[in-house]
Amino acid sequence: MRKVRVRFAPSPTGPLHIGGVRTALYNYLFARQHGGDMILRIEDTDQTRFVPGAEDYIIEALDWLGIKFDEGVHLGGPFGPYRQSDRKPLYRQYADQLLRDGWAYYAFDKPEALDAKRKEYEAQKKTFQYDCNTRLSMENSLSLPADEVQRRIESGDPYVVRFKFPDDIDITVHDLIRGDVTMNSRLLDDKVLFKSDGMPTYHLANIVDDHLMEISHVIRGEEWLPSAPLHVMLYKAFGWEDTMPFFAHLPLLLKPDGNGKLSKRDGDRLGFPVFPLDWKNPQTGEMSSGYREQGYLPEAVVNMLALLGWNPGNDQELMSMDELIRLFSIEHISKSGAKFNVEKAKWFNHEYLQQCSNERLADMFQPQLQEHGVNASRDYVVKVVGMMKERLNFPQELWDQTHYFFVAPTQYDPKAVSKRWKPGMPKHIAQAIHILQTVPFEYDAIHQALLEDYIKGNELNMGQIMNSIRLAVVGTTVGPDMITLILTIGKEETIARLQRAIDTLGEVEQ
Ligand code: GLU
Repeated sequence: MRKVRVRFAPSPTGPLHIGGVRTALYNYLFARQHGGDMILRIEDTDQTRFVPGAEDYIIEALDWLGIKFDEGVHLGGPFGPYRQSDRKPLYRQYADQLLRDGWAYYAFDKPEALDAKRKEYEAQKKTFQYDCNTRLSMENSLSLPADEVQRRIESGDPYVVRFKFPDDIDITVHDLIRGDVTMNSRLLDDKVLFKSDGMPTYHLANIVDDHLMEISHVIRGEEWLPSAPLHVMLYKAFGWEDTMPFFAHLPLLLKPDGNGKLSKRDGDRLGFPVFPLDWKNPQTGEMSSGYREQGYLPEAVVNMLALLGWNPGNDQELMSMDELIRLFSIEHISKSGAKFNVEKAKWFNHEYLQQCSNERLADMFQPQLQEHGVNASRDYVVKVVGMMKERLNFPQELWDQTHYFFVAPTQYDPKAVSKRWKPGMPKHIAQAIHILQTVPFEYDAIHQALLEDYIKGNELNMGQIMNSIRLAVVGTTVGPDMITLILTIGKEETIARLQRAIDTLGEVEQ
C-alpha cells in the first residue's frame, strides 16, 4: 500500500469554521493512525477572497487544538512550497497539457456576455450552464475558427481555460463514506481551470498539488462532492488515474435543530462559538468569538468535534487524542449530517476540567485573581480550585465560585439574612467563635464541639445556625461543606468574619 499522505487545504478567506477544524482533525487522526504524513497547504488562488491574517489564524488554531503537521506552509518540507500563490509558475504547463490533449479549451467570453446569457436564461426560468449543450454558442476555441483563436491569443485578448467534459458519459466517484456516486457529464459545467489573471482555479491547483504532493487520501467536506466528478476526470485527463487519491466526503455540521448547515450567525444567535479562536474581521472590525477565549479546553473541543459525524462503534464518549487516533475509522463516519449540540459541548468541557490537574487550573485562574487584586500563595490557590472544580463548566466561573476563599464578604445576601439571622443569633455566633478558639482546629474536633455538643446538645436549630455561620463567612448560603471551608480559610480569618457579621448584622428584634 502507498504511504498515507493527507492534507488539510484551507483557503485563507477568513477565520477557520469549526467544520473546517473537524476536517483537519479527521485528516490528522487518519494520518497518525496509519503512520502517515499530514500536510497543511494553503489554497489562495482566489486572490479576490484573500483575507490578511487568516493563514496565521488557521495555524494558531490548529496548534492550540494539538492538530500537528509534518509538512506545510509554516514548516516547509520536501514537497513545497505549500502556499498555492507561491506555486503559481508551475500550474500553466498543466493547463497547456490539457489544451494540447483536447481536454480543455480557451474561452474568450467577457463577464458582461456571460451575465447577459445568464439573464436570458433566467427570463425563461432556466439556469445557464457553460457545458456540452451550450459551449458552441459561446466564444471559445471550439466555436471560433482556429486562426481567429490564434489571433485573439496573440493580440492579448483575455481568456480563461475551461475543462471540456466529454458528452454524455457517466462519471463515478468512489467515496469511502458514501460508496459509488455517479453523475452524467451532461449535467456538469465546463469549469474554469485557469483564469485570465494567470492563476489556476481551485480545481486545477488542487488536483495538480494533490498529485505532486503524493496525496493518498482526500478527506474533506461534503460541499466538495459535486466537484469530485470533475476531479476524477482531471486525474484521467492527466493520465494520473493510477495514483488518484481515495476520496472521503464528510457529512455537514448542522444547526442544533438539524435544519441546514451550521453558520456563523447560528453561533451568535444561540450563544456558542463557531470558530476556534476569537477573530476580528480586518475589514469591518466585527468580532466573532472563539472556543479558546470562551474557556473551552482544546481536549474538549477535539473530543466533541470527533464525535460530530463519527463514533467509535460503541457509546464511549470521552476519548483523548491518543485514543481517538487508535479508534478512528472512516467506516464509522456517518453519511448524514451531524447536529451541533451546545449543551454537549459544555458537558465535554466540564468533564475535561475535572481531568485537569489542579496546578493547570490554578494557572488558568491567575488572571482572574490578578484582576481582583488577590495575591494568594500558589498552594492555597491549587487547594481551592481542587475543592471547587466539580462545579465548573468554564474556568471563567472560578472567581464566582471561589471568591470568598480569597476576600471576606463586604455585604450579606438580604434574603438569606431575613431567613436565617434570627433573634439570639449573635450569641450563637459568639459561641462558635469561642469554640474555634478553644478546641483543636481540626475537622472532627470542630464537628463534635460545634454541631454535636453545642447545637444538638442544646437542641438548637442546626439549619439556622450553620447557615448563619455560612452567611458570615461567605456572604450568602452557598459553598462547600462548612467545616472544610473554615479549615481552608483558617482560624483567624473565620473568627474575624464571624465577628464582623455580629457587628454588622447585630441582634434582631423579637
Ligand atoms: N480549499 C478548499 C477549501 O477551502 C479545499 C477543498 C479540498 O480539500 O479539496 O475547502
